[in-house]
Amino acid sequence: MRDGLDRSISILQGERPAPMSGEGYPQDSADAGSTLSEADRTEAILHSARGQRGEVLAALARIEANAYGRCVDCGGEIPEGRLDARPDAARCVGCQAKHARRR
Ligand SMILES: [Zn+2]
Repeated sequence: MRDGLDRSISILQGERPAPMSGEGYPQDSADAGSTLSEADRTEAILHSARGQRGEVLAALARIEANAYGRCVDCGGEIPEGRLDARPDAARCVGCQAKHARRR
């Protein structure tokens, strides 16, 4: 999973358009808009991929510390079904909901 994210991040970074080449800028406003949103979308995907990579690394650290599958907030066991859906889940459903509300 971490390797996959590393790959996606480097691919996305390579795809990012160079800032302002100064020529060949599309005159058609629809084109200009789609070029801009394309870059924005890549940036957004890159941002979430980096965030996810951090969570995966944290999950790997928890595996090494034998704390994987335990909620980092209450220490309770995270249900296996949740780990299947989110292998990098750091919290049980209840604590995750509280954590999300705090943000
Ligand atoms: Zn919990």
